[in-house]
Amino acid sequence: MRTLTFDSAHIGRVACSLCGKLVRPAKMKRHLIIHTGQKPFECPHCHHRTNRKENLDDHIRRRHTIRKEFVDDH
Ligand SMILES: [Zn+2]
Ligand SMILES: [Zn+2]
Repeated sequence: MRTLTFDSAHIGRVACSLCGKLVRPAKMKRHLIIHTGQKPFECPHCHHRTNRKENLDDHIRRRHTIRKEFVDDH
């Protein structure tokens, strides 16, 4: 018998209709507040928000990606 498996982190969560992010139902109301502005994409690292996914990707690359040369410094 085959059973469905779920990612335990996503159990009970619902996908935001605006950004597709999985959020607990109890927190969905609060989450939707970020969409009342013009910037639906929120950085998971620092809550920086942007109106375009490309801009968020660029932000993450610039601000949160540790460059290898820095890691190798020690
Ligand atoms: Zn959302
Ligand atoms: Zn950030």
